[in-house]
Amino acid sequence: MKKKELNKVRSQIIRCNKCRLSKTRTHAVPGEGPLNAKIMFIGQAPGKEEDRRGRPFVGRAGQFLNKLLEKNKIERKKVFITSCVKCFPPKNRIPKKSELEACWPYLLKQIELINPKIVVLMGNIAQRYKNKKILKNRNVIKTYHPAAGMRFPKIKKQMTADFRKLKQTLSKL
Ligand code: URA
Ligand code: SF4
Repeated sequence: MKKKELNKVRSQIIRCNKCRLSKTRTHAVPGEGPLNAKIMFIGQAPGKEEDRRGRPFVGRAGQFLNKLLEKNKIERKKVFITSCVKCFPPKNRIPKKSELEACWPYLLKQIELINPKIVVLMGNIAQRYKNKKILKNRNVIKTYHPAAGMRFPKIKKQMTADFRKLKQTLSKL
């Protein structure tokens, strides 16, 4: 059963030590959302608050993401939210190529199992995956990272437009 497989990925992530981020994390953050999610959001890496709680997008960037979802009447509990690497990079540094490569199989498996119609790549790191085969025949929406959106008005404006596009795409499914 797919639900079981998704839980298996989760437990693999929680005890993973495939890259050095495992040495400094408090909690790995596998991501959350239902198996039948139509939308998958992919960020960069867990931040400090996520590391503390083991849940994705629960810090300030998460609150900004929540607002964008609410404005478009998209329920957070119906979407799947995760990131490119599942462990907090010390001092919030950008994940290294080797860490991204070590973690990619988990994200790939999550996409395979959830099979989302829409994938939202938030920020430059997630956008590196835009040409991956698993994303062919899905609606891919590229946007900024919420951490940038909450800081810079111009980016906020663009993200607001991108989320409107997301809502339109969703309503056409
Ligand atoms: N940024 C991410 O990419 N993921 C989180 O969970 C929080 C911030
Ligand atoms: Fe494993 Fe990914 Fe965490 Fe690295 S970031 S330890 S590959 S779960």
